[in-house]
Amino acid sequence: MRLIDHVIAGGTAGLANGRRAAVMDPNTGAQQAEVVLGAADALERAVAAARAAQPAWAATNPQRRARVMFEFKRLCEASMDELALMLSREHGKVIADSKGDIQRGLEVVEFVCGVPHLQKGEYTQGAGPGIDVFSMRQPIGIGAGITPFNFPAMIPLWMGAVALAVGNAFILKPSERDPSVPNRIAELWREAGLPEGVFQVVHGDKEMVDAILDHPAIGAVSFVGSSDIANYVYQRGAAAGKRVQAMGGAKNHGIVMPDADLDQVVNDLCGAAFGSAGERCMALPVVVPVGEDTAERLRAKLIPAIEQLKVGVSTDPDAQYGPVVTAQHKATIERWIQTAIDEGSELVIDGRGFALQGHEQGYFLGPTLLDRVTPAMASYHNEIFGPVLQIVRAKDFEEALALPSQHQYGNGVAIFTRNGHAAREFASRVQVGMVGVNVPIPVPVAYHSFGGWKRSGFGDTDQYGLDGIRFWTRAKKVTARWPDGGFDGANAFVIPTMG
Ligand code: NAD
Repeated sequence: MRLIDHVIAGGTAGLANGRRAAVMDPNTGAQQAEVVLGAADALERAVAAARAAQPAWAATNPQRRARVMFEFKRLCEASMDELALMLSREHGKVIADSKGDIQRGLEVVEFVCGVPHLQKGEYTQGAGPGIDVFSMRQPIGIGAGITPFNFPAMIPLWMGAVALAVGNAFILKPSERDPSVPNRIAELWREAGLPEGVFQVVHGDKEMVDAILDHPAIGAVSFVGSSDIANYVYQRGAAAGKRVQAMGGAKNHGIVMPDADLDQVVNDLCGAAFGSAGERCMALPVVVPVGEDTAERLRAKLIPAIEQLKVGVSTDPDAQYGPVVTAQHKATIERWIQTAIDEGSELVIDGRGFALQGHEQGYFLGPTLLDRVTPAMASYHNEIFGPVLQIVRAKDFEEALALPSQHQYGNGVAIFTRNGHAAREFASRVQVGMVGVNVPIPVPVAYHSFGGWKRSGFGDTDQYGLDGIRFWTRAKKVTARWPDGGFDGANAFVIPTMG
Protein backbone atom coordinates (compact mmCIF):
# COMPACT_ATOMS: atom_id res chain seq x y z
CA MET A 1 0.00 0.00 0.00
CA ARG A 2 1.36 3.41 -1.00
CA LEU A 3 2.17 5.49 2.10
CA ILE A 4 1.66 9.25 2.05
CA ASP A 5 4.04 10.78 4.58
CA HIS A 6 4.62 14.26 5.96
CA VAL A 7 6.92 16.57 3.98
CA ILE A 8 9.19 17.91 6.68
CA ALA A 9 12.68 19.19 6.06
CA GLY A 10 15.14 17.00 7.86
CA GLY A 11 13.20 13.80 7.33
CA THR A 12 9.99 12.22 8.43
CA ALA A 13 10.95 8.70 9.47
CA GLY A 14 9.59 7.40 12.74
CA LEU A 15 6.92 10.05 13.13
CA ALA A 16 3.91 8.03 12.04
CA ASN A 17 2.95 6.96 15.60
CA GLY A 18 1.09 4.04 14.10
CA ARG A 19 -2.03 6.08 13.31
CA ARG A 20 -2.98 6.14 9.64
CA ALA A 21 -6.05 6.82 7.55
CA ALA A 22 -7.15 5.08 4.38
CA VAL A 23 -7.18 7.18 1.21
CA MET A 24 -9.95 5.86 -1.02
CA ASP A 25 -10.62 6.00 -4.73
CA PRO A 26 -14.17 7.36 -4.80
CA ASN A 27 -14.64 6.01 -8.32
CA THR A 28 -14.22 2.41 -7.19
CA GLY A 29 -14.65 2.43 -3.43
CA ALA A 30 -11.24 0.73 -3.12
CA GLN A 31 -8.43 1.92 -0.90
CA GLN A 32 -5.56 3.37 -2.94
CA ALA A 33 -3.14 4.65 -0.28
CA GLU A 34 -2.59 5.32 3.40
CA VAL A 35 -1.82 8.68 4.92
CA VAL A 36 0.02 9.12 8.20
CA LEU A 37 -1.91 10.85 10.97
CA GLY A 38 0.69 12.85 12.81
CA ALA A 39 0.80 14.49 16.20
CA ALA A 40 2.81 17.02 18.20
CA ASP A 41 6.19 15.36 17.56
CA ALA A 42 5.87 15.69 13.77
CA LEU A 43 4.71 19.28 14.14
CA GLU A 44 7.62 20.02 16.45
CA ARG A 45 10.06 18.85 13.80
CA ALA A 46 8.34 20.96 11.14
CA VAL A 47 8.37 24.03 13.40
CA ALA A 48 12.10 23.54 14.11
CA ALA A 49 12.84 23.41 10.37
CA ALA A 50 10.61 26.42 9.73
CA ARG A 51 12.29 28.39 12.49
CA ALA A 52 15.72 27.64 11.03
CA ALA A 53 14.75 28.57 7.47
CA GLN A 54 12.38 31.50 7.82
CA PRO A 55 14.72 34.39 8.74
CA ALA A 56 16.85 33.94 5.61
CA TRP A 57 13.74 33.59 3.43
CA ALA A 58 12.26 36.77 4.93
CA ALA A 59 15.57 38.54 4.33
CA THR A 60 15.57 37.48 0.66
CA ASN A 61 14.64 40.55 -1.30
CA PRO A 62 11.04 40.57 -2.55
CA GLN A 63 12.04 40.46 -6.22
CA ARG A 64 13.88 37.19 -5.62
CA ARG A 65 10.96 35.79 -3.65
CA ALA A 66 8.75 36.72 -6.60
CA ARG A 67 11.03 34.81 -8.96
CA VAL A 68 10.35 31.64 -6.95
CA MET A 69 6.61 32.33 -7.40
CA PHE A 70 7.05 32.70 -11.17
CA GLU A 71 9.02 29.47 -11.37
CA PHE A 72 6.53 27.57 -9.21
CA LYS A 73 3.71 28.69 -11.49
CA ARG A 74 5.64 27.54 -14.54
CA LEU A 75 6.34 24.13 -12.97
CA CYS A 76 2.70 23.63 -11.98
CA GLU A 77 1.58 24.51 -15.49
CA ALA A 78 4.06 22.02 -16.91
CA SER A 79 2.72 19.39 -14.46
CA MET A 80 -0.96 20.27 -14.99
CA ASP A 81 -2.04 16.91 -16.44
CA GLU A 82 -0.26 14.91 -13.76
CA LEU A 83 -1.62 17.10 -10.93
CA ALA A 84 -5.16 17.04 -12.31
CA LEU A 85 -5.19 13.24 -12.58
CA MET A 86 -3.82 12.88 -9.05
CA LEU A 87 -6.44 15.30 -7.73
CA SER A 88 -9.29 13.70 -9.62
CA ARG A 89 -8.44 10.17 -8.40
CA GLU A 90 -8.60 11.12 -4.74
CA HIS A 91 -11.32 13.78 -4.79
CA GLY A 92 -13.54 12.41 -7.56
CA LYS A 93 -14.05 15.66 -9.47
CA VAL A 94 -13.73 15.37 -13.25
CA ILE A 95 -10.40 16.19 -14.92
CA ALA A 96 -11.49 19.52 -16.44
CA ASP A 97 -12.78 20.64 -13.03
CA SER A 98 -9.57 19.40 -11.36
CA LYS A 99 -7.62 21.62 -13.73
CA GLY A 100 -9.86 24.51 -12.71
CA ASP A 101 -9.08 23.77 -9.04
CA ILE A 102 -5.34 24.04 -9.79
CA GLN A 103 -5.75 27.04 -12.09
CA ARG A 104 -7.68 29.10 -9.51
CA GLY A 105 -4.82 28.44 -7.07
CA LEU A 106 -2.24 29.44 -9.64
CA GLU A 107 -4.04 32.73 -10.16
CA VAL A 108 -3.20 33.57 -6.55
CA VAL A 109 0.42 32.61 -7.24
CA GLU A 110 0.29 34.95 -10.24
CA PHE A 111 -1.09 37.71 -8.00
CA VAL A 112 1.78 37.37 -5.52
CA CYS A 113 4.35 37.54 -8.31
CA GLY A 114 3.73 41.25 -7.65
CA VAL A 115 4.84 40.95 -4.02
CA PRO A 116 7.57 43.64 -4.30
CA HIS A 117 4.78 46.12 -4.92
CA LEU A 118 2.17 44.50 -2.66
CA GLN A 119 4.42 44.49 0.40
CA LYS A 120 5.57 48.09 0.12
CA GLY A 121 4.92 50.22 3.15
CA GLU A 122 3.69 53.81 3.44
CA TYR A 123 5.71 56.96 4.04
CA THR A 124 4.95 60.47 5.19
CA GLN A 125 7.71 63.00 5.02
CA GLY A 126 7.40 65.84 7.50
CA ALA A 127 4.59 64.48 9.67
CA GLY A 128 5.90 66.95 12.26
CA PRO A 129 8.90 69.26 12.41
CA GLY A 130 11.80 67.08 11.25
CA ILE A 131 9.67 63.99 11.77
CA ASP A 132 8.97 61.30 9.19
CA VAL A 133 6.57 58.40 9.63
CA PHE A 134 6.76 55.19 7.70
CA SER A 135 5.39 51.67 7.89
CA MET A 136 6.65 48.32 6.78
CA ARG A 137 4.82 45.03 6.37
CA GLN A 138 6.82 42.24 7.93
CA PRO A 139 6.00 38.52 7.82
CA ILE A 140 4.42 36.89 10.88
CA GLY A 141 7.17 34.26 11.02
CA ILE A 142 5.58 30.81 10.94
CA GLY A 143 2.03 30.42 9.64
CA ALA A 144 -0.17 27.36 9.24
CA GLY A 145 -3.02 26.44 6.90
CA ILE A 146 -5.67 23.81 7.61
CA THR A 147 -7.61 22.91 4.49
CA PRO A 148 -10.73 20.95 3.43
CA PHE A 149 -11.00 18.07 0.98
CA ASN A 150 -12.97 19.87 -1.69
CA PHE A 151 -10.23 22.04 -3.24
CA PRO A 152 -6.96 20.23 -2.49
CA ALA A 153 -4.92 22.48 -4.79
CA MET A 154 -6.70 25.84 -4.81
CA ILE A 155 -7.16 26.39 -1.08
CA PRO A 156 -3.61 25.43 -0.02
CA LEU A 157 -2.43 27.90 -2.68
CA TRP A 158 -4.84 30.65 -1.56
CA MET A 159 -3.08 30.60 1.77
CA GLY A 160 0.37 29.23 1.07
CA ALA A 161 1.27 31.40 -1.90
CA VAL A 162 0.51 34.63 -0.05
CA ALA A 163 2.10 33.49 3.21
CA LEU A 164 5.30 32.47 1.43
CA ALA A 165 5.56 35.44 -0.90
CA VAL A 166 5.65 37.92 1.98
CA GLY A 167 8.42 35.96 3.74
CA ASN A 168 6.77 33.50 6.11
CA ALA A 169 7.46 29.82 6.58
CA PHE A 170 4.20 27.94 5.99
CA ILE A 171 3.05 24.59 7.41
CA LEU A 172 0.09 23.01 5.61
CA LYS A 173 -2.24 20.50 7.26
CA PRO A 174 -4.36 19.33 4.31
CA SER A 175 -7.44 17.15 4.36
CA GLU A 176 -6.66 13.52 5.08
CA ARG A 177 -9.10 12.49 2.31
CA ASP A 178 -6.98 13.74 -0.64
CA PRO A 179 -3.43 14.38 0.61
CA SER A 180 -1.37 13.59 -2.52
CA VAL A 181 -1.64 16.90 -4.36
CA PRO A 182 -0.46 18.92 -1.32
CA ASN A 183 2.64 16.70 -1.11
CA ARG A 184 3.31 17.17 -4.82
CA ILE A 185 2.89 20.92 -4.39
CA ALA A 186 5.57 20.80 -1.67
CA GLU A 187 7.96 19.10 -4.11
CA LEU A 188 7.25 21.69 -6.77
CA TRP A 189 7.97 24.55 -4.34
CA ARG A 190 11.37 22.97 -3.61
CA GLU A 191 12.06 22.53 -7.31
CA ALA A 192 11.12 26.17 -7.88
CA GLY A 193 13.87 27.23 -5.49
CA LEU A 194 12.06 27.67 -2.18
CA PRO A 195 14.52 26.84 0.60
CA GLU A 196 14.01 23.63 2.58
CA GLY A 197 11.75 24.09 5.60
CA VAL A 198 9.85 27.09 4.21
CA PHE A 199 6.87 25.08 2.89
CA GLN A 200 6.08 21.86 4.73
CA VAL A 201 3.15 19.47 4.93
CA VAL A 202 2.03 17.70 8.09
CA HIS A 203 -0.79 15.19 7.81
CA GLY A 204 -3.34 14.36 10.43
CA ASP A 205 -6.75 14.92 11.91
CA LYS A 206 -8.00 16.73 15.04
CA GLU A 207 -4.88 15.77 17.00
CA MET A 208 -2.62 17.57 14.53
CA VAL A 209 -5.00 20.53 14.25
CA ASP A 210 -4.97 20.94 18.03
CA ALA A 211 -1.16 20.72 18.09
CA ILE A 212 -1.05 23.55 15.51
CA LEU A 213 -3.56 25.69 17.41
CA ASP A 214 -1.63 25.32 20.65
CA HIS A 215 1.89 25.73 19.30
CA PRO A 216 3.38 29.00 20.58
CA ALA A 217 5.73 29.43 17.60
CA ILE A 218 2.89 29.52 15.05
CA GLY A 219 1.67 33.09 14.80
CA ALA A 220 -1.17 32.83 12.29
CA VAL A 221 -3.61 30.11 11.27
CA SER A 222 -5.81 30.10 8.21
CA PHE A 223 -8.60 27.53 8.16
CA VAL A 224 -11.17 26.51 5.56
CA GLY A 225 -13.72 23.78 6.28
CA SER A 226 -17.10 23.24 7.93
CA SER A 227 -18.53 25.89 10.25
CA ASP A 228 -18.50 24.14 13.61
CA ILE A 229 -14.82 23.31 13.16
CA ALA A 230 -14.08 26.78 11.77
CA ASN A 231 -15.61 28.30 14.89
CA TYR A 232 -13.62 25.92 17.11
CA VAL A 233 -10.37 26.70 15.29
CA TYR A 234 -11.08 30.44 15.50
CA GLN A 235 -11.73 30.34 19.24
CA ARG A 236 -8.94 27.99 20.25
CA GLY A 237 -6.40 29.71 18.00
CA ALA A 238 -7.37 33.17 19.25
CA ALA A 239 -7.24 31.97 22.86
CA ALA A 240 -3.64 30.91 22.19
CA GLY A 241 -2.87 34.45 20.98
CA LYS A 242 -2.77 33.80 17.24
CA ARG A 243 -4.40 35.69 14.45
CA VAL A 244 -6.96 33.38 12.86
CA GLN A 245 -9.11 33.50 9.77
CA ALA A 246 -11.57 30.61 9.51
CA MET A 247 -13.90 30.10 6.56
CA GLY A 248 -16.89 27.83 7.15
CA GLY A 249 -19.76 26.13 5.36
CA ALA A 250 -22.34 27.59 3.02
CA LYS A 251 -25.83 27.38 1.61
CA ASN A 252 -25.85 29.69 -1.37
CA HIS A 253 -29.07 30.88 -2.98
CA GLY A 254 -29.78 31.78 -6.61
CA ILE A 255 -32.62 34.28 -6.89
CA VAL A 256 -34.47 34.06 -10.22
CA MET A 257 -36.46 37.18 -11.08
CA PRO A 258 -39.44 36.91 -13.45
CA ASP A 259 -37.53 38.69 -16.23
CA ALA A 260 -34.47 36.39 -16.12
CA ASP A 261 -33.33 34.50 -19.22
CA LEU A 262 -34.44 31.05 -18.02
CA ASP A 263 -32.44 29.03 -20.55
CA GLN A 264 -29.29 30.71 -19.35
CA VAL A 265 -30.35 30.30 -15.72
CA VAL A 266 -31.01 26.57 -16.14
CA ASN A 267 -27.62 26.06 -17.76
CA ASP A 268 -25.89 28.05 -14.99
CA LEU A 269 -27.83 26.33 -12.23
CA CYS A 270 -27.07 22.82 -13.44
CA GLY A 271 -23.34 23.55 -13.38
CA ALA A 272 -23.44 25.44 -10.08
CA ALA A 273 -25.68 22.95 -8.23
CA PHE A 274 -24.30 19.66 -9.57
CA GLY A 275 -20.75 20.45 -10.75
CA SER A 276 -18.14 18.76 -8.55
CA ALA A 277 -21.10 16.71 -7.20
CA GLY A 278 -22.23 19.81 -5.30
CA GLU A 279 -19.11 19.70 -3.11
CA ARG A 280 -18.20 23.36 -3.49
CA CYS A 281 -18.60 26.01 -0.85
CA MET A 282 -19.71 28.31 -3.68
CA ALA A 283 -22.19 25.80 -5.16
CA LEU A 284 -25.78 27.00 -5.64
CA PRO A 285 -27.90 24.36 -3.89
CA VAL A 286 -30.95 26.61 -3.38
CA VAL A 287 -32.87 28.29 -6.18
CA VAL A 288 -35.47 30.91 -5.36
CA PRO A 289 -37.86 31.67 -8.21
CA VAL A 290 -39.79 34.89 -7.60
CA GLY A 291 -43.52 34.42 -8.22
CA GLU A 292 -45.49 31.22 -8.95
CA ASP A 293 -45.31 31.73 -12.70
CA THR A 294 -41.49 31.97 -12.63
CA ALA A 295 -41.39 28.87 -10.42
CA GLU A 296 -43.49 26.80 -12.81
CA ARG A 297 -41.61 27.93 -15.91
CA LEU A 298 -38.24 27.31 -14.23
CA ARG A 299 -39.24 23.88 -12.95
CA ALA A 300 -40.47 22.83 -16.40
CA LYS A 301 -37.09 23.70 -17.92
CA LEU A 302 -35.00 22.35 -15.04
CA ILE A 303 -36.41 18.81 -15.04
CA PRO A 304 -35.32 17.77 -18.55
CA ALA A 305 -31.95 19.54 -18.14
CA ILE A 306 -31.22 17.69 -14.90
CA GLU A 307 -32.36 14.38 -16.36
CA GLN A 308 -29.79 14.78 -19.11
CA LEU A 309 -26.81 15.28 -16.80
CA LYS A 310 -24.09 12.71 -17.24
CA VAL A 311 -22.57 11.27 -14.07
CA GLY A 312 -19.43 9.21 -14.60
CA VAL A 313 -15.99 8.28 -13.38
CA SER A 314 -13.83 11.32 -12.81
CA THR A 315 -11.54 10.49 -15.75
CA ASP A 316 -14.45 10.22 -18.22
CA PRO A 317 -14.17 13.31 -20.46
CA ASP A 318 -17.93 13.23 -21.11
CA ALA A 319 -18.95 13.13 -17.44
CA GLN A 320 -20.25 16.38 -15.97
CA TYR A 321 -19.60 15.27 -12.45
CA GLY A 322 -18.12 12.28 -10.65
CA PRO A 323 -18.57 10.53 -7.31
CA VAL A 324 -18.75 12.22 -3.91
CA VAL A 325 -15.70 11.96 -1.70
CA THR A 326 -16.44 9.09 0.72
CA ALA A 327 -19.02 6.40 1.38
CA GLN A 328 -19.93 8.17 4.66
CA HIS A 329 -20.56 11.44 2.87
CA LYS A 330 -22.74 9.68 0.31
CA ALA A 331 -24.81 8.16 3.14
CA THR A 332 -25.13 11.61 4.81
CA ILE A 333 -26.42 13.17 1.59
CA GLU A 334 -28.94 10.34 1.17
CA ARG A 335 -30.14 10.90 4.72
CA TRP A 336 -30.66 14.61 4.00
CA ILE A 337 -32.77 13.74 0.95
CA GLN A 338 -34.94 11.51 3.14
CA THR A 339 -35.19 14.25 5.78
CA ALA A 340 -36.31 16.72 3.11
CA ILE A 341 -39.06 14.32 2.02
CA ASP A 342 -40.11 13.65 5.62
CA GLU A 343 -40.28 17.40 6.25
CA GLY A 344 -42.82 17.76 3.46
CA SER A 345 -40.84 18.90 0.44
CA GLU A 346 -41.63 17.37 -2.93
CA LEU A 347 -39.10 14.93 -4.41
CA VAL A 348 -39.11 15.75 -8.12
CA ILE A 349 -35.97 13.84 -9.16
CA ASP A 350 -34.40 11.22 -6.90
CA GLY A 351 -30.65 10.72 -7.26
CA ARG A 352 -30.44 7.94 -4.69
CA GLY A 353 -29.91 4.40 -5.85
CA PHE A 354 -27.85 5.54 -8.83
CA ALA A 355 -25.29 2.90 -9.84
CA LEU A 356 -22.66 3.31 -12.51
CA GLN A 357 -22.17 0.11 -14.47
CA GLY A 358 -18.80 -1.44 -13.66
CA HIS A 359 -18.36 0.95 -10.69
CA GLU A 360 -21.10 -0.25 -8.36
CA GLN A 361 -18.91 0.29 -5.30
CA GLY A 362 -18.07 3.89 -6.28
CA TYR A 363 -19.65 6.75 -4.32
CA PHE A 364 -21.96 7.98 -7.06
CA LEU A 365 -25.20 9.85 -6.62
CA GLY A 366 -27.56 10.98 -9.36
CA PRO A 367 -28.82 14.56 -9.29
CA THR A 368 -31.73 15.26 -6.92
CA LEU A 369 -34.33 18.01 -7.29
CA LEU A 370 -36.61 18.96 -4.40
CA ASP A 371 -39.44 21.48 -4.73
CA ARG A 372 -41.59 23.33 -2.19
CA VAL A 373 -38.78 23.50 0.35
CA THR A 374 -39.44 26.06 3.11
CA PRO A 375 -37.20 28.02 5.50
CA ALA A 376 -38.60 26.02 8.44
CA MET A 377 -37.04 22.79 7.20
CA ALA A 378 -33.77 21.40 8.60
CA SER A 379 -32.77 20.32 5.08
CA TYR A 380 -32.92 24.00 4.08
CA HIS A 381 -31.20 25.33 7.16
CA ASN A 382 -28.22 22.95 6.87
CA GLU A 383 -25.52 22.43 4.30
CA ILE A 384 -25.99 19.15 2.37
CA PHE A 385 -22.84 19.47 0.22
CA GLY A 386 -23.99 17.04 -2.46
CA PRO A 387 -25.72 16.98 -5.88
CA VAL A 388 -29.05 18.19 -4.48
CA LEU A 389 -30.94 21.27 -5.67
CA GLN A 390 -33.75 22.69 -3.55
CA ILE A 391 -36.44 25.03 -4.88
CA VAL A 392 -37.74 27.56 -2.35
CA ARG A 393 -40.58 29.60 -3.84
CA ALA A 394 -40.79 33.30 -2.93
CA LYS A 395 -43.81 35.47 -3.61
CA ASP A 396 -41.88 38.67 -4.31
CA PHE A 397 -38.46 40.34 -4.35
CA GLU A 398 -38.53 41.22 -0.63
CA GLU A 399 -39.26 37.65 0.40
CA ALA A 400 -36.48 36.39 -1.90
CA LEU A 401 -34.01 38.94 -0.50
CA ALA A 402 -34.86 37.92 3.06
CA LEU A 403 -34.05 34.22 2.51
CA PRO A 404 -30.25 34.40 2.04
CA SER A 405 -30.10 37.43 4.35
CA GLN A 406 -31.64 35.53 7.25
CA HIS A 407 -29.88 32.22 6.62
CA GLN A 408 -27.21 31.12 9.11
CA TYR A 409 -24.65 31.00 6.28
CA GLY A 410 -23.62 33.99 4.18
CA ASN A 411 -20.98 32.81 1.76
CA GLY A 412 -22.25 33.44 -1.79
CA VAL A 413 -25.51 34.40 -3.48
CA ALA A 414 -26.59 35.15 -7.04
CA ILE A 415 -29.41 37.07 -8.65
CA PHE A 416 -30.55 36.36 -12.20
CA THR A 417 -32.34 39.27 -13.81
CA ARG A 418 -32.32 41.72 -16.73
CA ASN A 419 -33.33 44.55 -14.40
CA GLY A 420 -30.30 46.60 -13.35
CA HIS A 421 -32.18 48.36 -10.58
CA ALA A 422 -33.29 45.09 -8.96
CA ALA A 423 -29.75 43.71 -9.19
CA ARG A 424 -28.25 46.85 -7.69
CA GLU A 425 -30.76 46.91 -4.87
CA PHE A 426 -30.15 43.22 -4.18
CA ALA A 427 -26.35 43.52 -4.14
CA SER A 428 -26.54 46.47 -1.80
CA ARG A 429 -29.02 44.99 0.72
CA VAL A 430 -28.32 41.25 0.85
CA GLN A 431 -26.53 40.00 4.00
CA VAL A 432 -24.03 37.76 2.23
CA GLY A 433 -20.31 38.19 1.57
CA MET A 434 -20.03 37.44 -2.17
CA VAL A 435 -22.70 38.36 -4.69
CA GLY A 436 -23.11 37.33 -8.33
CA VAL A 437 -25.24 39.30 -10.77
CA ASN A 438 -26.08 36.78 -13.49
CA VAL A 439 -22.92 34.99 -12.31
CA PRO A 440 -23.75 31.73 -10.52
CA ILE A 441 -20.42 31.16 -8.72
CA PRO A 442 -19.09 34.60 -7.81
CA VAL A 443 -15.64 33.59 -6.51
CA PRO A 444 -13.68 36.86 -6.63
CA VAL A 445 -10.55 36.94 -8.81
CA ALA A 446 -7.15 36.68 -7.13
CA TYR A 447 -6.56 40.43 -6.80
CA HIS A 448 -9.84 40.90 -4.91
CA SER A 449 -10.46 38.82 -1.77
CA PHE A 450 -12.63 35.82 -0.89
CA GLY A 451 -14.74 35.58 2.23
CA GLY A 452 -18.27 34.93 3.45
CA TRP A 453 -20.29 36.43 6.26
CA LYS A 454 -22.07 35.03 9.32
CA ARG A 455 -21.26 31.33 9.95
CA SER A 456 -19.39 31.17 6.64
CA GLY A 457 -16.48 33.22 7.92
CA PHE A 458 -14.93 33.75 11.36
CA GLY A 459 -12.27 36.42 11.75
CA ASP A 460 -11.92 39.79 10.11
CA THR A 461 -9.81 39.25 7.02
CA ASP A 462 -10.61 37.44 3.80
CA GLN A 463 -8.45 35.04 1.81
CA TYR A 464 -5.96 36.28 -0.81
CA GLY A 465 -5.99 39.70 -2.51
CA LEU A 466 -4.94 42.63 -0.34
CA ASP A 467 -6.66 41.09 2.69
CA GLY A 468 -4.36 38.08 2.28
CA ILE A 469 -1.31 40.34 2.28
CA ARG A 470 -2.59 42.01 5.45
CA PHE A 471 -3.36 38.70 7.17
CA TRP A 472 0.09 37.23 6.54
CA THR A 473 2.04 40.34 7.53
CA ARG A 474 2.30 42.65 10.54
CA ALA A 475 2.55 46.37 10.01
CA LYS A 476 5.37 48.08 11.85
CA LYS A 477 5.00 51.85 12.18
CA VAL A 478 8.13 53.92 12.58
CA THR A 479 8.17 57.56 13.70
CA ALA A 480 11.67 58.97 13.15
CA ARG A 481 13.34 62.24 14.07
CA TRP A 482 16.93 63.22 13.30
CA PRO A 483 17.60 66.30 15.45
CA ASP A 484 20.39 68.58 14.34
CA GLY A 485 21.80 68.75 17.87
CA GLY A 486 20.04 71.96 18.95
CA PHE A 487 17.44 71.69 21.80
CA ASP A 488 14.00 72.12 20.30
CA GLY A 489 12.30 73.16 23.55
CA ALA A 490 9.48 70.60 23.33
CA ASN A 491 7.73 69.74 26.61
CA ALA A 492 8.58 66.06 26.98
CA PHE A 493 5.91 65.58 29.69
CA VAL A 494 2.99 66.21 27.37
CA ILE A 495 1.80 63.58 24.90
CA PRO A 496 3.31 64.65 21.57
CA THR A 497 0.87 66.12 19.06
CA MET A 498 1.54 67.43 15.59
CA GLY A 499 -0.89 70.32 16.00
P1 NAD B 1 -13.98 19.61 7.58
O1 NAD B 1 -14.41 20.71 8.45
O2 NAD B 1 -14.43 18.22 7.91
O3 NAD B 1 -12.37 19.52 7.53
C1 NAD B 1 -11.59 20.66 7.31
C2 NAD B 1 -10.25 20.47 7.99
O4 NAD B 1 -10.45 20.37 9.41
C3 NAD B 1 -9.51 19.21 7.56
O5 NAD B 1 -8.15 19.49 7.41
C4 NAD B 1 -9.76 18.25 8.72
O6 NAD B 1 -8.70 17.33 8.90
C5 NAD B 1 -9.87 19.17 9.90
N1 NAD B 1 -10.77 18.63 10.95
C6 NAD B 1 -11.79 17.74 10.78
N2 NAD B 1 -12.39 17.50 11.95
C7 NAD B 1 -11.75 18.24 12.88
C8 NAD B 1 -11.94 18.42 14.30
N3 NAD B 1 -12.90 17.80 14.96
N4 NAD B 1 -11.10 19.27 14.94
C9 NAD B 1 -10.14 19.93 14.27
N5 NAD B 1 -9.93 19.79 12.92
C10 NAD B 1 -10.73 18.96 12.24
O7 NAD B 1 -14.40 20.01 6.09
P2 NAD B 1 -14.37 19.13 4.78
O8 NAD B 1 -15.45 18.10 4.85
O9 NAD B 1 -13.00 18.71 4.49
O10 NAD B 1 -14.76 20.26 3.70
C11 NAD B 1 -16.07 20.62 3.41
C12 NAD B 1 -16.53 21.83 4.18
O11 NAD B 1 -15.66 22.93 3.92
C13 NAD B 1 -17.89 22.31 3.76
O12 NAD B 1 -18.59 22.71 4.91
C14 NAD B 1 -17.61 23.49 2.86
O13 NAD B 1 -18.66 24.43 2.74
C15 NAD B 1 -16.44 24.07 3.54
N6 NAD B 1 -15.67 24.93 2.65
C16 NAD B 1 -15.73 26.28 2.86
C17 NAD B 1 -15.05 27.12 2.03
C18 NAD B 1 -15.07 28.60 2.25
O14 NAD B 1 -14.20 29.28 1.73
N7 NAD B 1 -16.00 29.13 3.01
C19 NAD B 1 -14.30 26.61 0.97
C20 NAD B 1 -14.26 25.22 0.78
C21 NAD B 1 -14.95 24.40 1.64
